[in-house]
Amino acid sequence: MSERTESESRKLLRRLRDTLATTGGGQDRLDRITHLIADSMKTEVCSIYLFRDPETLELCATEGLKKEAVHQTRMKLGEGLVGRVARTNSAVNTANAPAEKGFRYMPETGEEIYSSFLGVPIQRVGEKLGVLVVQSKTARSFSDDEIYALDVVAMVLAEMTELGAFTSDDNGMSALHRQPALFRGGIGQEGSAEGHVWLHEPRVVVTNPVADDPLTEIERIREAVGQLRVSIDDLLAAQSLDKDQVQVLEAYRMFANSRGWLRRMEEDIMRGLSAEAAVEKEQSAARARLEQVEDAYLRERLSDLDDLSNRLLRLLTGQGQDTGAEMPENPVLVARNIGPAELLDYGRSLKGVVLEEGSVGSHAAIVARALAIPLVINTGRITAEALNGDHILVDGDQGIVHLRPEETVARAFRDKIAMQAEAQKRYASLRKLPATTLCGKTISLSMNAGLMADLPSLEGSGAEGVGLFRTELQFLIRNKMPRRAELASLYARVMDAAKGKRVAFRTLDIGSDKVLPYMKPQDEPNPAMGWRAIRVGLDKPGVLRMQVQALIRAANGRPLTVMFPFITEFSEFQEARSHVLRELHRERSLGHVPPAKIEIGAMLETPSLAYAPKAFFELVDFISIGGNDLKQFFFAADRENERVRRRYDTLNFSFLNFIEQIVARCNETGTALSYCGEDAGRPIEALALSAMGLRSLSMRPASIGPVKALLRKTNLDEAKSVIVAARDSGEPSARQALMNWLAEQPN
Ligand code: PEP
Ligand code: MG
Repeated sequence: MSERTESESRKLLRRLRDTLATTGGGQDRLDRITHLIADSMKTEVCSIYLFRDPETLELCATEGLKKEAVHQTRMKLGEGLVGRVARTNSAVNTANAPAEKGFRYMPETGEEIYSSFLGVPIQRVGEKLGVLVVQSKTARSFSDDEIYALDVVAMVLAEMTELGAFTSDDNGMSALHRQPALFRGGIGQEGSAEGHVWLHEPRVVVTNPVADDPLTEIERIREAVGQLRVSIDDLLAAQSLDKDQVQVLEAYRMFANSRGWLRRMEEDIMRGLSAEAAVEKEQSAARARLEQVEDAYLRERLSDLDDLSNRLLRLLTGQGQDTGAEMPENPVLVARNIGPAELLDYGRSLKGVVLEEGSVGSHAAIVARALAIPLVINTGRITAEALNGDHILVDGDQGIVHLRPEETVARAFRDKIAMQAEAQKRYASLRKLPATTLCGKTISLSMNAGLMADLPSLEGSGAEGVGLFRTELQFLIRNKMPRRAELASLYARVMDAAKGKRVAFRTLDIGSDKVLPYMKPQDEPNPAMGWRAIRVGLDKPGVLRMQVQALIRAANGRPLTVMFPFITEFSEFQEARSHVLRELHRERSLGHVPPAKIEIGAMLETPSLAYAPKAFFELVDFISIGGNDLKQFFFAADRENERVRRRYDTLNFSFLNFIEQIVARCNETGTALSYCGEDAGRPIEALALSAMGLRSLSMRPASIGPVKALLRKTNLDEAKSVIVAARDSGEPSARQALMNWLAEQPN
């Protein structure tokens, strides 16, 4: 690239910037810019097409084509050469446009006389904003140098578009970031919320795409890249990195040290871009490539490059995580992904959470559930669309997010929230009443918990106690193993907050989907059936013993309830139980006050335990059915796999019959039995389980009201007859019969 071309390019960018600084409407700016570009590139035509909506491009300004076509000519994404540039996010350069495949003749523009065509995308970090085109009569291909120059100009236009420079009332264009957008994702946690976007990682705003002094900019970028390299080396030198983290950082280091990366950015700077704009141009190119790549490994590497560009931008602009922006009212967190500890830091201040990635079983989802915050996962690309403060509706029941919704949508949504609030009020009035059915049977309703933050719900929900306290959450949200004293103090606080109500502490349930960041990951082909839960506890009993000691100390003379997850056979229970008895003995000998009473239970999460010897049922103090796991093994359907997860109905008779058998075995020995899987919190399922003989259910606090309300107005004996009749008639599931019967009941 000659110095002359460089300085011409800089001149053009500077003129662009000056045009922007002028007052006047968006249309006026666009017109002047097309004139400038055509003049500088020595082409007869220069046109700017911008997206009217995500599918439609509109000719917004032109030098050379017929003016009447402006704001009239539109094309769909992929249509014609302009549409192709936008769809593929790459340049189209041809000496004979009409002969090009896909060419679409638009008579209103008068473009038939122009033979050569060069179009480049106007995009900002992967977000399509429009297309910039130059055309001329002479049939010639544009040189690489010209393509490059137009790319740099498009970059500046992208920044300007993003800053709203071209949107005004006079051209009827509204910024893309002002339009309503709908995202469909997966359900992470049910519930609805209305609020304003709070970006976990706010986008870096580049306000100075054009720079006057390239040498200063080059110095800035070299310095920032230098800092970036040092920070990666520091991270790599840190201990306790696992294999995957090291691999990612190695990739970062490779890119950060890549000469090509820095060289390309320096070339862009020599053309007149600021250091920040040069980084974004590279980032945009990487994102565009990312969209085309199928190979998972390459995709990951390209997204590493994307992350790296973000870090570099933050270094250059000084915009760290904290941009000084104030959290809006009713914040709804929007993020690509978020760690459980970070989510906990936000705590209940959030009205909702929307994640581009994430899965039902992710730790963030577990925390969102514990905090009862509506969560939608897997929405894809929302962080590029949303701006801090945008109005947002989160429909966690259907996995839908409305960003900047139309007023009619917002109104309907508010009606739904109001109805839910109304129902909550009704449930609150039942809080102190027992879940006694019309036929006089009382079902004990407890809540599931896992965090200190859950405990206030004990009072508000009317739960009789905590039927399942998932202790692993405390382990998952930290980056190192918690110490015994820390755990003891936490468990003591949980018991204090429970004010004498029973809390069933489940010992550490890790493995499968719950992987501790500080434990060596196990490379297992099928972790759900692998080395998890009590299997880890028994093979490496150090943590189990430490946890039991912490529980005994926390109880400090109060009654204590411990249960073991994933017991598959009697001997596992015996062994786990003997650890507890040994620790009791040891703690007593160390002078600690033993619990006034200790209950030791087992979770029934694998079908095999239902067929354990009678001696097991006699020895165990209580059994809690972990229906989430039990169902996945009973139906051989992965609970994390959306495709099969909902395929098998809990009210399917095979499963209900099985539950009935477990109830019968417990009745035979007088063993206390409860159910603590998610199904216990769904009213119809809760009703069916109670009809099959369960007298104790544990669920999310928010489910207690609806479950209690239904149980209190139901005759369980009649419900049982409905179920039995459906079973006898050969129906596959009790659901339909129960629903029909319920619909006939007086309100
Ligand atoms: C279950 O499996 O039903 C259960 C309650 O445990 P978790 O969901 O924590 O595996
Ligand atoms: Mg389980």
